[in-house]
Amino acid sequence: MFPEFTLRFARLPERFYLRFDPVPVPEPRLVAFNRPLAEALGFDLDAFEAQGAAQWLSGNRVPQGAEPLAQAYAGHQFGHFNPRLGDGRAVLLGEVTDRQGRLRDIQLKGAGMTPFSRGADGRAPLGPVLREYLISEAMHRLGVPTTRALAAVTSGERLFRRVPEPGAVLTRVAASHLRVGTFQYFAARDDGEAVRMLADMAIERHYPGLLTAEQGESEGERYLGLLEAVADRQASLVAKWMGLGFVHGVMNTDNCTISGETIDYGPCAFMEAYSPTMVFSSIDEQGRYAYRNQPWIAQWNLARLAETLIPLIDDDQETAVAKATEVIKRYEPHYEAEWLAVMRAKLGLEREEEGDRELVEALLEAMQAGRADFTLTFRRLSEALEQDASALFELFETGDGLAAWLPRWRERLARESADAGAIAARMNGVNPLYIPRNHQVERVIAAAVEHADFGPFEVLGEVLAEPFVEQPGREEYAQPAPSTERVFRTFCGT
Ligand code: AMP
Ligand code: MG
Repeated sequence: MFPEFTLRFARLPERFYLRFDPVPVPEPRLVAFNRPLAEALGFDLDAFEAQGAAQWLSGNRVPQGAEPLAQAYAGHQFGHFNPRLGDGRAVLLGEVTDRQGRLRDIQLKGAGMTPFSRGADGRAPLGPVLREYLISEAMHRLGVPTTRALAAVTSGERLFRRVPEPGAVLTRVAASHLRVGTFQYFAARDDGEAVRMLADMAIERHYPGLLTAEQGESEGERYLGLLEAVADRQASLVAKWMGLGFVHGVMNTDNCTISGETIDYGPCAFMEAYSPTMVFSSIDEQGRYAYRNQPWIAQWNLARLAETLIPLIDDDQETAVAKATEVIKRYEPHYEAEWLAVMRAKLGLEREEEGDRELVEALLEAMQAGRADFTLTFRRLSEALEQDASALFELFETGDGLAAWLPRWRERLARESADAGAIAARMNGVNPLYIPRNHQVERVIAAAVEHADFGPFEVLGEVLAEPFVEQPGREEYAQPAPSTERVFRTFCGT
């Protein structure tokens, strides 16, 4: 069933990981399978049947050519450094080459206790597995770089969390699982050779352009180039999150990828009523990872990556620090530009004008004052262009700010070359109608966990597969939570 494995990470020296076979589960049952992704990865699905697939995708059988391992990594968690985290419940089977010729990691999450488990059970409850499945696939459809979900299998085990829950295994696909924390693990051990090997692997897998960059470029410049490339991808990634009202929730350095993909959908959530200080995660008491802090937390994480690369950037430490600091500082204008580009597109603006930032900020202020739904406000702006604005005003508790803003926007739009119809169509291609709303996600999880009913999960997955296209009969999926189902707190569920 699996395509051929190319073992890259497993060929690194042994201190990068611990070889570890998934711990078998009693009764694996396939509850979700991402067929289009499997095809894109080159899986052989001719003889596909769910029962056999469940054996492979639970880790009960290890595919030929795979060398399962738990990766070593460290990380700053809520600002505190932990020198040894590592895959406590995930195993990398290996890498495969997809149909586009790209290397992709195949990982089983919830595969059992590893030497990095630190007393925890190594398993994943069904709820968080379905959550990651739905939200990561939705993010992909929304155009956000992200790890993907290939499959979910229930294990037949019961796990003990806040309440007993069924266990499950998620098959996660990633451009790689290299994180800022992977670099930190070796830097903290003064293992410069290992940091260099990681940096070389990161360049080869994610930034091969750095290898062909100007001839004669020094090695140091190549590693500085790596830092800058990662910073650019993170700037672009976080700008996309901000444009969707997405709050990641645990932006620890071990959850910050070198590839620039979103990873680890724990307590993440999409905002409904716009509030820049929004925090969902129950463990984020200080609001460190609040919506509006995300760009600056990414920069903080990048500074931690920079620290690990200093010895590679220049033999002279002071010079290296100065160069790396420059790159970290440049993240700010890069991020600002990415954000503005995202927001301009959301407002239907193609031209760039001086006052655009103020225009965007004024709308956000009006949304905040009116407690307007983030997603629907942008979606209904295009409607307001062609028809009247009443549906838009309905989203606002107080509409004064919006009433003052709309003429400013219309006046600005008059300087765009496209006509209203074309602008509206463009806006509907970037402002989704459907996002994974927390209450909907909670509902489908409850049906699956409490009644083993996966129907609602499948329907929500279908809706989220076409987030920009209006789907008749599925209006309720576009609606904010009724007051009784509003979600203000999310739990990691590990
Ligand atoms: P996360 O919050 O998912 O990013 O995980 C942070 C760290 O905790 C990683 O090292 C995980 O492998 C580990 N971890 C999370 N949940 C479990 C679990 N149930 N068993 C073992 N390790 C876990
Ligand atoms: Mg993690």
